[in-house]
Amino acid sequence: MHKKVVIIGSGPAGLTAALYAARANLEPLVIRGLQPGGLIATTSEVENYPGFPESVGGYELAELMEKQAGRFGTEFLDAIVNDIDLTQRPFTLTTDSGQTVTGDTLIISTGASPRKLDVPGENELANRGVSYCATCDGFFFRDKRVVVVGGGNSALDEGLFLTRYVSELVVVHRRDQLRADPILQERAFENPKVRFVWNAAVSEVLGDERVTGVRIKHLKTGEETVLETDGVFPYIGHVPNTSLFKGHIHLDESGYILTDGRTRTNVPGVFAAGDVVDYIYRQAITAAGEGCMAAMEATWYLAEQEHAAKKSQAASPHPEEETTPALGQW
Ligand code: NAP
Repeated sequence: MHKKVVIIGSGPAGLTAALYAARANLEPLVIRGLQPGGLIATTSEVENYPGFPESVGGYELAELMEKQAGRFGTEFLDAIVNDIDLTQRPFTLTTDSGQTVTGDTLIISTGASPRKLDVPGENELANRGVSYCATCDGFFFRDKRVVVVGGGNSALDEGLFLTRYVSELVVVHRRDQLRADPILQERAFENPKVRFVWNAAVSEVLGDERVTGVRIKHLKTGEETVLETDGVFPYIGHVPNTSLFKGHIHLDESGYILTDGRTRTNVPGVFAAGDVVDYIYRQAITAAGEGCMAAMEATWYLAEQEHAAKKSQAASPHPEEETTPALGQW
């Protein structure tokens, strides 16, 4: 399959890029990836996406974005890209089913994944009490006790969502001040089901068949205690999904894709948008804005390439094959 614009990732950045590229008649392809709809689709309620005064479910928002992009001719592929070649245009992508897709331009919007606690028991008890998605799994914790780890917006937003089901919610945070927005802090402090354990870290997730508790280390005293719980929801930030691109495009030391402020990576024709680039704002609306920028940049880039090809064709009937500059030339 060949496309003028190939987009990897289907969160707000990818779907907005698709909408703009589709409306530019570029018939883009979106490769949905591991998390269709992106992280926003795993978010319970989105209260700060403009245009939804009564808030909108994260999954519903992603669905609406996909529908809008589809209306203008975006094609979707349910696949995971596991190999890329960016040394030559068109760029080549190979999917997990062995399918080859080529693209004149590539927009990377693979987002970020929840950061793990990296403690014993976390992996072993994943999906058996350890969950990174309150929206998906909250229902299974009806009348149960759960621990949320972290002090940011995700921890409180998703924690508050969990209080619809659980009997008790304990927020374990490594400091004694929350990073979350004041409005969420207020709601959490007022909620009788929520209590906080400050200056503490989860050092182990306990349980055999299912989670039965967590070992907590109190960071000021070094004291360790066991807190009985039925579930653990770590919300301690994210890591960018860029392992596929290592060695192919420039990344920073934390693995985020480096762009020039106009979504352009060091490889001409490859653009990046959303949480895979942005470690500061990380909002659905900023990701959508960057997706729009990337699609506009791709559109201009294609127009320039077309113009250059016409000129070189006029000068010589056999133009040389184009190669992208080696990594490090940017
Ligand atoms: P975040 O804002 O980076 O917060 C991560 C939290 O986890 C912080 O409280 C941090 O502690 C803690 N933490 C980090 N590493 C840790 C570790 N190794 N062990 C224990 N705790 C650790 O991440 P987020 O909450 O996932 O939010 C990501 C972005 O999405 C933010 O920009 C946020 O505003 C946005 N968001 C917005 C909403 C909303 O507007 N309703 C909802 C969800 C997310 P420290 O505070 O000590 O650093």
